[in-house]
Amino acid sequence: MIAGILKEIKAEENRVAMTPAGVELMKQNGHTVLVEKAAGSGSGFEDEAYVQAGAEIVETAREIYDRSEMVMHVKEPLPAEYDLIRENQIVFTYLHLAAAEELTRALIRSNAVCIAYETIQKADGSLPLLTPMSEVAGRMAIQQGAKYLEMSQGGHGVLLGGVPGVDPGNVVVIGGGIVGTNAAKMACGLGAKVYVLDINLDRLRYLSDIMPSNCYPLMSGPATIRDLIQRADVIVGAVLIPGTKAPRLITRDMLKYIRQGTIMVDVAIDQGGCFETSRPTTHTDPIYTVDGVVHYCVANMPGAVARTSTLALTNATLPYAVEIASKGWKNAMLENKEIRPGANIINGKVTYKGVSDAFGLEY
Ligand code: NAD
Repeated sequence: MIAGILKEIKAEENRVAMTPAGVELMKQNGHTVLVEKAAGSGSGFEDEAYVQAGAEIVETAREIYDRSEMVMHVKEPLPAEYDLIRENQIVFTYLHLAAAEELTRALIRSNAVCIAYETIQKADGSLPLLTPMSEVAGRMAIQQGAKYLEMSQGGHGVLLGGVPGVDPGNVVVIGGGIVGTNAAKMACGLGAKVYVLDINLDRLRYLSDIMPSNCYPLMSGPATIRDLIQRADVIVGAVLIPGTKAPRLITRDMLKYIRQGTIMVDVAIDQGGCFETSRPTTHTDPIYTVDGVVHYCVANMPGAVARTSTLALTNATLPYAVEIASKGWKNAMLENKEIRPGANIINGKVTYKGVSDAFGLEY
């Protein structure tokens, strides 16, 4: 199969859908890989490395769409690309269609085979192509929290790890899933006192087993949250209720309990945010302050560490890309039950219930 790797054109997106190592593996499996010029440069992979791995560099996205049987992106196609997508072409990327009606309708019109990274699903219900980005965002949340705690950045000047003779900082992580666990791990590693809150008792038991002794898994609820935020230096919002907006767990009114210079990192901002005062920010202007409390609410956190994020993402996507290319999408979906729920739109028909429900489309 001919696979085409597009350069990302969405603002602040430096990841790339395949590394040179991925190209090498695709070639070993008998496939041809076209890479759009400079597609990997934002992640530190130059064209030369792709050529050495056996790819052909092409000048334009149009040529990628014209010549490829499968195109791969990281982010969803943008309006400038809608008319380039061809009938029967496989589009394999993050799509997040339930929140994007214009894109959904464009992909229906294209008659392409649209397989979304985010709905590929393992038998245990986990989403293997979302996990790596949650791992990155969770770990990064503490890095950002620690940075903005510095006085010059608006924080109240606490070193998370403390020093001998001085208490460490307090970190409150609301939501103990992938993001929350990774945030807690980083904060524990720095030596902070870390509270992880979740409503799933089994998850709390698991965290209690695996986390170090400076981590305190607690049942989440308004009283606990109200109590802990008064002592917090960094608060991380990491809740997810699949298919719905994030619940507002820290309301505007509760800000009065939080000390000035505390850092609130709302990782769940891509689902609307779990703090009432959250609004999406960007890497170029990541923070703002409400009542002296610093809010960091970047919706695509992994984009800031594109090198790590590209490697983490492609570790997860590549086996599926190879399988789809080698078997064709129909057989890949028949033989691998994880790929089947990835199908969002096939030849003009919506094949994912969440997308049809979102826009009242035939399923
Ligand atoms: P996850 O499903 O692994 O974990 C979510 C956890 O939240 C679960 O353990 C669940 O029990 C818990 N939860 C639900 N309601 C709760 C409540 N009221 N109080 C406490 N805990 C509660 O999800 P995840 O992969 O960790 O993702 C978390 C959020 O981070 C999602 O909204 C995801 O979209 C977002 N995210 C954002 C970025 C970014 O760049 N901003 C990157 C990756 C993920």
